Amino acid sequence: MTKIIKLDRENPDVNLIDEAAKILLDGGLVAFPTETVYGIGANSLNPDAVKKIFIAKGRPQDNPLILHIAKFEDLYRYVKSVPKNAVIMMENFWPGPLTMIFEKSDIVPSINTAGMNTVAIRMPSNIIAHTLIERAGIPVSAPSANLSGKPSPTEASHVINDLNGRVDMIIDGGKCDVGVESTVVDMTGEVPTILRPGGITKEMIIKAIGSVKVDPIVYKKPPNGLKPKAPGMKYKHYSPDAEVYIVKGNLHDVTKKIQELTEFQLNKGKKVGIMATEQTCKKYQKGEVIVVGDRERPETIAKNLFNVLREFDKKGVDVVYSEGFGYDEIGLAIMNRLEKAAGYKEIILKE
Ligand code: AMP
Ligand code: MG
Repeated sequence: MTKIIKLDRENPDVNLIDEAAKILLDGGLVAFPTETVYGIGANSLNPDAVKKIFIAKGRPQDNPLILHIAKFEDLYRYVKSVPKNAVIMMENFWPGPLTMIFEKSDIVPSINTAGMNTVAIRMPSNIIAHTLIERAGIPVSAPSANLSGKPSPTEASHVINDLNGRVDMIIDGGKCDVGVESTVVDMTGEVPTILRPGGITKEMIIKAIGSVKVDPIVYKKPPNGLKPKAPGMKYKHYSPDAEVYIVKGNLHDVTKKIQELTEFQLNKGKKVGIMATEQTCKKYQKGEVIVVGDRERPETIAKNLFNVLREFDKKGVDVVYSEGFGYDEIGLAIMNRLEKAAGYKEIILKE
């Protein structure tokens, strides 16, 4: 049985949070909102509890988890050393949508790290998440609260859809602010490396510490047989049931091409979804058109992206055509998720 509770995101009832904290301390699973996406949490220090996460999600055991903490000093308990750049990153971006990879200390059970000698740590800013971790007094391992392979959940209804009956409690704390998962940065090398783009952008990191590398896997399909540094990046992800195609190029040509492709699919008897923006939605007369956000404010696109992918599933479309977006700032995270949802299928129009 899953208990579902609703909490005020600004001022959550601490008695209810303590009930959730007790479930974690007793070895149970709690799904809760964070500023990125909803997470499915267990006590990181209890290997049996952590194991339940993999079972509930259907997550491959070789995909390590992120440990969530509430106090800066806790970082030093779970890692061997904290490089100077990491301190600057913490000061700038924690609490917030940034995960850093360090060499792990011995007290972190290896089930969290898929047997690797590194561990991923994040301090979320969402008040419900932060209070829950603080009151429980333990690190909380929490991947996204979706069934493995499905788009990450950005509201409680998505979690209920995927995990009702598979976890002990689901906390409904409204819509997530960022909408895509945290930026993952490997701090163990000479120059920090972005393994997964997110709400803390490459540009923001460069401003804070001077330089950062971007792992090639962020931009393209992992070649067969390659073992990416963030094991999760090799899996098919964020996928709705429909086939997704991204149409890239000059925006005017893109909208024209999507109209042509839609017509073509409709003639074949297919149901077509179009992922459009405020700027372009009026151009589409046919198909199921959903506005993902405003091109002038790309953070709105990040926030709605996963929900729109789930909406297309609810409408039962066979094919989705999405407009492409830029790769700068939050655009890098948007395109990374969209390309994975599309299985890297794209139509590139010549300028
Ligand atoms: P999720 O929690 O589902 O958003 O996924 C967490 C991401 O962080 C996955 O892509 C993991 O592979 C990655 N990750 C977690 N721990 C590590 C680690 N120690 N080294 C590299 N990547 C990691
Ligand atoms: Mg995930």
